[in-house]
Amino acid sequence: MDCPLGKTRKSFVFGSGNPEARVLFVGEAPGADEDEQGLPFVGRAGQLLTKIIESTKTFKRSEVFIANVLKCRPPENRAPAPEEVERCIPYLRRQIAILKPRLIMALGASAAQSLLSTKEAVGKLRNRWHELDRIPVLVTYHPAALFRFEGYKKEVWNDMKVFTAKHKDLQDP
Ligand code: URA
Repeated sequence: MDCPLGKTRKSFVFGSGNPEARVLFVGEAPGADEDEQGLPFVGRAGQLLTKIIESTKTFKRSEVFIANVLKCRPPENRAPAPEEVERCIPYLRRQIAILKPRLIMALGASAAQSLLSTKEAVGKLRNRWHELDRIPVLVTYHPAALFRFEGYKKEVWNDMKVFTAKHKDLQDP
């Protein structure tokens, strides 16, 4: 299916990480740095995401998988339009089907709403487990939001604790 974003982007940002990963982090869409390098979450928000992941002392960025709802950068980093999500989400669904992660963390509204087919706000979706194809999904704030709302840091940290605890519960004996 043709998508107009394919004409303005430089890279199709597929995702990156361990193809055997048990854990998948899903963001919104590539920004300028990601478009340039062809990799997800490599800009400022990405560096923060790496810190958040590694601060768990359980996950390493290289051991998880990171992907976005949109594979192409929307011009001016605007939020994805619903028809762009509709066109692009089959890639993510296929990635999930192949990767078969044990856990998914949805970062921000675009990821949460697209994966869970809801319009509920992140604040309402947090603090409980959701399911996608029988995979537990936890919702937290997008790392970029932490630059604007300092208070979200603690919330994200708590969400990561819940996520890490569930991961430990699901470990093979
Ligand atoms: N924000 C996202 O949602 N994804 C990226 O890859 C980078 C920034």
